Amino acid sequence: MLILLKHPLLTHKLTQLRRKETSTKDFRETLDEIAGLMAYEVTNDLPLNIITINTPLSICQTGELAMDIVLVPVLRAGLGMVDGITKLLPSAKVGHIGMYRDHTTLEPLTYYTKLPDNLQDAIVMVLDPMLATGGSSGAAIKVLKDNGAKTIKLVCVIGVPEGVRKIEHDHPDVQIYLAGLDERLNEKGYILPGLGDAGDRLFGT
Ligand code: URA
Repeated sequence: MLILLKHPLLTHKLTQLRRKETSTKDFRETLDEIAGLMAYEVTNDLPLNIITINTPLSICQTGELAMDIVLVPVLRAGLGMVDGITKLLPSAKVGHIGMYRDHTTLEPLTYYTKLPDNLQDAIVMVLDPMLATGGSSGAAIKVLKDNGAKTIKLVCVIGVPEGVRKIEHDHPDVQIYLAGLDERLNEKGYILPGLGDAGDRLFGT
């Protein structure tokens, strides 16, 4: 299921991210801010345990997050979304999946996987700024399911209908979050109008 986030602050910051003049420094800071703003929306259905605590004046029935959160950036561009989310969720664990797209076949290849234990009891957020063909995000989701993950949210910044359709078809249980839904892919698999290569822009390569 696609959840397209339309907050004006997100749109404003996404405009900054898209501009070709945006420097590496500003791209990094803005992606971090966007991830934080998205985290606020992505977490709005997290389950709570109802608990009773003491305030300085009285007792209070209130809530605290009931499940562990695991962030899994897809290397390398997903790394740019981690800090913005851990500012809000400082106890989140962070796994990593290294994946690259073969530029000829556009097929995703996994070269690195390091994940925390007990994924089955956690809410797992896959972080990948660009949902293009859906190949690498879909392959990362499969790796997580193979490692026991049951509740998975895919958090991307920009996507295209083709990628959304692929994830919805292959992983109908996964919620997909986007801050922008663009038109289409070009012949090299880049999103149009998009923002270019997210990893290159983030790391200045
Ligand atoms: N990955 C990127 O970094 N940019 C795109 O446009 C598509 C995939």
